[in-house]
Amino acid sequence: MFLIIGTKFFSWGSDLTIQPMRCSQCNVVAPFKILKGMRFLTLFFIIPTIPLSGVKNMVECPNCGAKFLQS
Ligand SMILES: [Zn+2]
Repeated sequence: MFLIIGTKFFSWGSDLTIQPMRCSQCNVVAPFKILKGMRFLTLFFIIPTIPLSGVKNMVECPNCGAKFLQS
């Protein structure tokens, strides 16, 4: 038996930004989805085990799905 170990980025959240933002990828102006995300070490690609980073705040474009990290 062997273990398949990888990393996966999980994100969650469904709040929208109050202010519309402009997407630098597709130029749409709309409220973006506020996401929190974290990279995990996974077993068999799906089972998150060890978090590899802290929680990151991101916004996601509702039009093209591009994600932007927020500082
Ligand atoms: Zn976009």
